[in-house]
Amino acid sequence: MLERVDITYISPCLAEPDKIRLKARLGKSIEEVLPYLNAVMEGASFNPAVPCITIRRDFRVLTLYPEELTMIKAENSTDAMQVIEWLKKQIRDIWERKDEITPDYTRSEKPHPLMIYKQLPGTNCGACGETNCMAFAFKLLGGEQEVDNCRPLKEGDYLESREMLNNLFVS
Ligand code: SF4
Repeated sequence: MLERVDITYISPCLAEPDKIRLKARLGKSIEEVLPYLNAVMEGASFNPAVPCITIRRDFRVLTLYPEELTMIKAENSTDAMQVIEWLKKQIRDIWERKDEITPDYTRSEKPHPLMIYKQLPGTNCGACGETNCMAFAFKLLGGEQEVDNCRPLKEGDYLESREMLNNLFVS
C-alpha cells in the first residue's frame, strides 16, 4: 500500500533540541486509508476537514496527510526511520484487513490535554493571557482559546506543532 516515504526536511526540535522533527512525502496518496486507521488505531485523532490523522508512538507525534507525513520528537534519524517502517507496516496490515474493518469517517473525540500541552512551547510565558501552558491547553480544548493566541508558536520555529494543533482544531 505504502512503499515509499521520502524525508524532505529534518531539523532539531526547538523545545527539545536533542530530538528531531521531520517532514516526508508519501509515495502515493493514502487518503482512502485514513478512515480505516481512525477506526483501528487507539488514541488517533482524525479530522476529516483537513483531512489528516494524528497518531502517537510513545513520545513521538505523527500527523499523516494524504500525501505527507510530519513527525516531531523523534530521537534521531535512525529512530525516525524505525517509526516510519512501523507506520508503513500498520498501514499495510490495516489495508489488508480492510474488508473486516468498518471505516470511521467521523471526527475523533478531543485529544487528551497532555497531548496538547506537549506541543506547546512550555515556557509558561503568559502571552496568551493564561497563567501557564497547561491552562492554555485546557482552554483550547474547551473552545475558550485559539491556537493563534499562543504567540511563541507563531514566532518560533514551531511550525509542525502549530500545524498539528491547527489540524486538530480546524472545523
Ligand atoms: S503563550 Fe504559549 S507558551 Fe506562553 S503560556 Fe501561553 S501557551 Fe504557553
